[in-house]
Amino acid sequence: MTARAPAAKRLLKRWGRRIFAGSGRLLDLARRRETPGGVRILTYHRIASDSGDPFAVAPEEFRVQMELLAESRAVTSLDEAVGAQGPPKDVEGVVLTFDDGTVDFVEAALPVLSHLRLPAMLYVNPSRVGTPGFVSWRDLGLLPASGIRVGSHSLDHVSLGSLPREEVRRQLKVSRSILEQRLGTLVDSLAYPFGTLRDFGSVVKEETRSAGYRTACTAINGLNRNAMDPLELRRTKIEQGDGPIFSWVLAGCLDGWVLVDRYLSALQNRYAQTG
Ligand SMILES: [Zn+2]
Repeated sequence: MTARAPAAKRLLKRWGRRIFAGSGRLLDLARRRETPGGVRILTYHRIASDSGDPFAVAPEEFRVQMELLAESRAVTSLDEAVGAQGPPKDVEGVVLTFDDGTVDFVEAALPVLSHLRLPAMLYVNPSRVGTPGFVSWRDLGLLPASGIRVGSHSLDHVSLGSLPREEVRRQLKVSRSILEQRLGTLVDSLAYPFGTLRDFGSVVKEETRSAGYRTACTAINGLNRNAMDPLELRRTKIEQGDGPIFSWVLAGCLDGWVLVDRYLSALQNRYAQTG
């Protein structure tokens, strides 16, 4: 999903994130807080040079971020990081996730991930695979050899929170079974489309569990600690222009944004124009 925003708004938002992260950094220094342990799951969307899409991270910016992560040896797979009861105690690490399965994943992200041997999870919508702008089934079939797993992002990229239970069940079950049949691999991870608090709830989570998913990612900001609900995993979205604050974001300086997730849902939904 792409989101286009006027240049002034994009600039305001970019600097808003930087100031927010910088404030978090100063607060951390003031508290002399140690880096909190836990599993940080990063969310990427498009890896492309497109100044009109705040969720498109430029390939060069992406490469620098991945090199930093490769050097830190912090990256682990989602499977290793999150057990049936949430992240194991004392586990720390960074997990890479990519939403939507746009074709740039194969063209721009995969070569970097493969070269640096970084595992990742790609969440796709089976109804879009093979359509213009999205990855093909052949592309998806080649990913496991590079350490990339494929997860479901629902069948049609709809907000599950507003659907009748039967349709939620169909979106979750049919997408999983199509992916498993076409790819011949186990698919047991989901990313809720849009992923804000409005987009999943107790009914959606019940259906997610009964459809056989072991983990599910949200767009709620933050770190995953021991005993986190594996069907309500928090993530940290990386946006265009986040390069200068990337290490701060990894250290948790944008985690305070969870207050927006929880209490300012109107702002959160404006912020999460995509998912
Ligand atoms: Zn999405």
